[in-house]
Amino acid sequence: MQSNAVQSRTIKVAPLRCEFRDGATENDFLEHQLAMTQDQLRVTFLFCALFYLCFALTDLLWLGYELKTGLLVGVRIAVAVTVLASLALLKHRPDSIPVTRLVASVVEIVGAVGFLLIAGLRPMEFSLHAISMSVVVIVLYIYIPNRLIYAAAIAAATTALFIGMAWRLGGVVGIQLPTMAALLILTNLFSYVAARRYQILWREEYSAQMVLKNLSVRDPLTGCYNRRHLHQQLLETEISRAQRYRLSLTVIMCDLDHFKAVNDNHGHYGGDTVLQHFAALLQSMTRDNVDSVVRYGGEEFLLILPETDLAGGALLAERLRQSLAATPVEHDKQRIAVTASFGVASVDFAVQPQAAHINMIAAADDLLYAAKNSGRNRVCAQQLV
Ligand code: GH3
Ligand code: MG
Ligand code: MG
Repeated sequence: MQSNAVQSRTIKVAPLRCEFRDGATENDFLEHQLAMTQDQLRVTFLFCALFYLCFALTDLLWLGYELKTGLLVGVRIAVAVTVLASLALLKHRPDSIPVTRLVASVVEIVGAVGFLLIAGLRPMEFSLHAISMSVVVIVLYIYIPNRLIYAAAIAAATTALFIGMAWRLGGVVGIQLPTMAALLILTNLFSYVAARRYQILWREEYSAQMVLKNLSVRDPLTGCYNRRHLHQQLLETEISRAQRYRLSLTVIMCDLDHFKAVNDNHGHYGGDTVLQHFAALLQSMTRDNVDSVVRYGGEEFLLILPETDLAGGALLAERLRQSLAATPVEHDKQRIAVTASFGVASVDFAVQPQAAHINMIAAADDLLYAAKNSGRNRVCAQQLV
């Protein structure tokens, strides 16, 4: 579950490699993009395979039927086979970010090596190859979705090898060679800049989406999840997960005691400060990315504790109760003493696999009122059967 820890994660993008500085955010982003990345890979791969195969015709027209033509066509077929194998692997592992990256890098490397071999086998046409080299660089940076640093490394290495080959095999000498090199280096630079813009733009768009999503699921005063998110997603997700894996699920409903008096004695701002203090305590004493804290009503909060049994839930509620009672809230140079009451309800889906229909929130609410009626500042817990 998302928590305040996620909310406060840095959304800064590293300027050169163009990835989120925070690894977990980058991973979330890549997962979010995965379907689109794979669609792009499929289209680009097919296009690249066709590109390599179609130019076999120019081998035939330029060289006629000879051994070299066979070699050239062999290289082209090898690239096309790598592309097809990569497509098959993608289909087999559609959920894997590492596989998607591996496939992109392998096709880029095999495509680049294939291109260099073809250029080496047709050494008379290096100025034409230089044009193709520019296209290859653009495809590597922009059209095959890969990590920018991988694409840049592969494109730069291929360009360097190509320039070396143009000099040693292609007989490109004099002013032609530095001119060719300068143009290809420029192609690399411009492609990098264009790819960088895409990478940053996608991440900015993703950040904006996440900020909006966060605003829509959280309560502005306390930063806790709001009730809409609880009913739209949170509760159902946790109940069905607990049911599927036969786990315990515990919920705690808690409510500040005599909170109306806090407002009456310290004003609404004082009341708000107490609410923020209590919410922060609940967030800090629960597990990041596992437990969820929901502002259920004005001064009523709901905790959802996956993989937690009744004893664990009751222990947490007791710790929360003691901690709140022991630390008065500072407001306007005054110390406001507050307590809260807790209702803890737990279901063990290993024992009761069909318990999803039980209204755990209503049960926790009843237990909370039992705690209120028996004097407040206490915990009432019950295993639901
Ligand atoms: P009990 O111990 O039985 O829970 O008594 P209580 O006074 O806490 O409960 P009651 O329901 O009578 O009062 C709740 C108060 O919470 C009334 C309402 O004005 C206040 N409240 C609700 N939302 C907010 C808020 O966002 N900020 C502030 N400051 N007060 C709020
Ligand atoms: Mg109250
Ligand atoms: Mg209340």
